[in-house]
Amino acid sequence: MQILLNPGPVNLSDRVRKALAGPDICHREVEFSELQTGIREKLLDVYSLDEHWAAILLTGSGTSAMEAMLTSLVGANEKILIIENGAYGERLSRIAAIHGLTYQTLHHEWGEKIDTDRLAKLLGDDIAYIAVIHHETTTGRLNDLAAIAAVARVYGTPLLVDGVSSFGAEEIRFEDWNIAACAGTANKCLHAIPGTAFVIVNRRYSKDLDANQRTLYLNLGTYLQQQDSGGTPFTQSVQSMYALNEALDEFREQGGWQQRRESYREKMAMIYRGLTEMGIQALITADESSCVLQSFLLPTGISYQHLHDELKRMGFVIYAGQGDLAKTLFRVSMMGAVTTGDAARFVDSVGKIITG
Ligand SMILES: *Cc1c(COP(=O)(O)O)cnc(C)c1O
Repeated sequence: MQILLNPGPVNLSDRVRKALAGPDICHREVEFSELQTGIREKLLDVYSLDEHWAAILLTGSGTSAMEAMLTSLVGANEKILIIENGAYGERLSRIAAIHGLTYQTLHHEWGEKIDTDRLAKLLGDDIAYIAVIHHETTTGRLNDLAAIAAVARVYGTPLLVDGVSSFGAEEIRFEDWNIAACAGTANKCLHAIPGTAFVIVNRRYSKDLDANQRTLYLNLGTYLQQQDSGGTPFTQSVQSMYALNEALDEFREQGGWQQRRESYREKMAMIYRGLTEMGIQALITADESSCVLQSFLLPTGISYQHLHDELKRMGFVIYAGQGDLAKTLFRVSMMGAVTTGDAARFVDSVGKIITG
């Protein structure tokens, strides 16, 4: 078996893999309805959210949740501010451009820390939402949502958060940070399979969801209305939902997001220590990185392709940098059923490759 150190899809636990082979059911029957309702409740439980919140399930990858969130929440006459400091922030802007939303960007180079002074200058009564990535998987930087929320509070501007690679492993304070909606997916920190994505929305905005019909498939208003009465507008990926349901049970039994964060941190610390001792530098210091993923600079004289291929031969899949970063760095993610033993073997394997 390959150990996946890419940021999703992830190695499944045995119980999640077994759940995939659940019974054949029709998405218009009560069995499906119960499965869907159960998952929606368990997703809210991850961050102890009450009935003022709703989890909306979509069949698609994480990007479908990002696109559904922006196109359903932002009104025809509303302007949003999109913060960019990596490929995923720039993806938010592309979605906004494609759908003709009115938006402004606060751009940073990939990996840069978000400049809250510049943010404060751009905010005003004319900005309806700030859209921001929580964990920018491009580099591993964990954007400081608390600091952004503190600036946004001056104007009462709510946040639209891409939590695709942080939901389930990092702290997300939905109420304190004035989050209107947060996009997530089954196959990252929740350890299920690709196929089901979701948006957690504050029900205060449910009327807006209905009003903003920009796409047929991704309109969250349609989903919310039907899911609240046990239905679904379109066929959902039933097997993916079996896996997610089981993964959420396992997640709760293992101790929730706090425990998942601890587990990622423990393994990441082993890798960080091991690689830095070999002279491999991290792109971003551990305290500004997520617990989920770290970017490391390629050691001089070793190409990504060589490192990747040798590691793959030894049973590990690492992840390349995006865009120009492909030439200079590699990424290591801790998502999925990966053990401390795997982390130790990974460090050994990198050592063997480096010493040739
Ligand atoms: C993985 C990821 C996505 C979604 O990517 P998909 O390929 O559509 O699953 C979105 N945002 C972030 C921050 C991600 O890490």
